[in-house]
Amino acid sequence: MSVRGTHLVVDLERITENARSIRSVCAARGVKVLGVTKGVSAEEHIVSAILAGGITQLADARLENVRRLRKSGFQQPITLLRIPMLSQAAQVTAVCECSLNSEPEALKALSDAALALGKTHEVILMIDVGDLREGVFPEDAAELLRGALPLKGIRVVGIGTNMGCYGGILPTESNLTLLCEVAGELERIAGEPLEIISGGGTSSLMLTAEGRMPKRVNQIRVGEGILLGTDSTFSRSIPWLNQDTFILRAEIVELKRKPTIPIGERGAPAFADAPIFEDQGVRRRAIVALGQQDVPPSSVIPCDPAIRVLGASSDHMILDIEDSERNYSLGDMVDFRLNYQGMLMACSSAYIPHVYLRGEEEMGEQILSPEEAAEIRE
Ligand SMILES: *Cc1c(COP(=O)(O)O)cnc(C)c1O
Repeated sequence: MSVRGTHLVVDLERITENARSIRSVCAARGVKVLGVTKGVSAEEHIVSAILAGGITQLADARLENVRRLRKSGFQQPITLLRIPMLSQAAQVTAVCECSLNSEPEALKALSDAALALGKTHEVILMIDVGDLREGVFPEDAAELLRGALPLKGIRVVGIGTNMGCYGGILPTESNLTLLCEVAGELERIAGEPLEIISGGGTSSLMLTAEGRMPKRVNQIRVGEGILLGTDSTFSRSIPWLNQDTFILRAEIVELKRKPTIPIGERGAPAFADAPIFEDQGVRRRAIVALGQQDVPPSSVIPCDPAIRVLGASSDHMILDIEDSERNYSLGDMVDFRLNYQGMLMACSSAYIPHVYLRGEEEMGEQILSPEEAAEIRE
């Protein structure tokens, strides 16, 4: 295997399986899935893995990612998830077919920019049903639409909402029914049906899978579910998806027995998530080549359940390995699963090389053969 040292193993096949399962569960309920790529910085192999699962439309929050995808030849429709910067209206219309919006001024800027390019840019108007991130409140939706209708460079294709992000508000039949009621009101104003009712992200997957999603919702935008098989808003692993999609493997650079309480006068800790020391005597510890500059220590979950993450500074992560049954040596790798934040950080770190696993074929120097893949998966 070519990559040595701390690295991230990405199981492309399991990501494809997740995408395929989510697509088919949603299709059975009449819901289209946008594959959300921002959690992995729209990394090309991973985006291809999502598309291989039958997902046909993408969404990302950052123009840099969208531009990179376009440069690499991805031609799928892409929706911009973060409401656009006024200053970037031209770039948005140049590379994205659609964007989520909540500001009349931004709609005007997008319309002007699209007209200048001889295009029509699609917009989804965001309705805030309680999470208090982006969007207008239901009672202000009509006004936003009235401002948008005369703009020649944009087409209002639908409305959407976002949940479980800032306020941690759960998607429910009640707040999504409210969204559908807003749709009805806007359709009376526009005099035609809205094509898209976009009912949230991964946290809306449960309602969809259980057939409890209000009928008019016909799109969800899914990142976490595809990439990690988890739904952090509901604090759950989704039982019909794969979770072992990303494994961060960190190399042990020091192995020693040390006391559990620091020695000497203690000053301020270097990072906010400072450890709480509890005297457990002298214990065996490992330092791995991983730090706050890569992933926050709270975002990694050791695959060996007997290992405890004690803390990290910029470049050193300290593990308690006293209770592990494995006899670790210097240079050994310690494996971690990642939560969403860990995946996000690991994928945007310039210091963590990626190794890709895929079942049937080998492509590019970093993609392993099926035999090597089997060995890592164990
Ligand atoms: C990030 C994001 C999503 C995807 O969220 P997941 O929880 O990863 O599925 C959907 N919609 C918007 C507006 C987002 O910003």
